[in-house]
Amino acid sequence: MTDFSQSFYWETLPLRGARCRLDAIYARVLRDFQGQAEVAQLLGEVLVGLALLATTQKNYERLIIQAQSKGPLKLLVAEMTAAGGMRAYGSWEEGVSVDLSQLPDALLAITIDMGMDRDRYQGLVELRDSLTLSLNAYFAESVQSPAYFRLVADPSLQQAGGYFLQRLPGVLAEEDWELATQFIAVGSDQSLLKAHPQQFLPEIFPDSAVRLHEPQALSFACSCSREKVERMLISLGSAEAEDTLRSEGAIVVTCEYCQEVYRFDEADVALLFAPEHALH
Ligand SMILES: [Zn+2]
Repeated sequence: MTDFSQSFYWETLPLRGARCRLDAIYARVLRDFQGQAEVAQLLGEVLVGLALLATTQKNYERLIIQAQSKGPLKLLVAEMTAAGGMRAYGSWEEGVSVDLSQLPDALLAITIDMGMDRDRYQGLVELRDSLTLSLNAYFAESVQSPAYFRLVADPSLQQAGGYFLQRLPGVLAEEDWELATQFIAVGSDQSLLKAHPQQFLPEIFPDSAVRLHEPQALSFACSCSREKVERMLISLGSAEAEDTLRSEGAIVVTCEYCQEVYRFDEADVALLFAPEHALH
């Protein structure tokens, strides 16, 4: 197993956490990426944040972390399914430096989609100077159970991973919470990624046993399909489809997440808008 998340908890303390490693997913997301290094970095961080956040959720169908602003970073989004399929996508202004602390009207939204006919929960926080601070703020404001994230992403090494800790309801001394977060905060990114949790987690509170759950395998997965693109074209209407056919010769739709290309020529479009097709 290359990519995974793994949660853990302390037996006698109201404290839990998780770690993850997403090198293969990150490499796949960056495969056709041609933007600024800061955006490549953010794509890794948002994937890591999502994988860690997911370890705190049960019974969801899809989790989404989305950052948007009216500045150079238009959209940054990562999605994860219950089966551990992850994808991410960014949209930004070419050639403009992307600095989270300088973005106007910047928001971070976390969506928990429970599936068909069930609830959809969305939490919103202001985007802070980093995704780490934004996720910490989300837990403090929306979940009311403080968390501490450390997100590591290195686009040149194609490495992504991280740790997070969450303080659960119960009695945990302030200095113990600070001690635990220090263990995650210190050291280089490389040393954090290489650390063995079985070794360093028990060192934090030698008097309380740490239990590690089985890791969950994670992988790159995109939910796009020709059928979904067909439905989108039908909803835009035949006039628009015929306009594009006239000017471009074919309708070509490229998935923003996985770069899969869906091509529709004149015969495909005719079939799409034929009365018998519309019945389905
Ligand atoms: Zn796709």
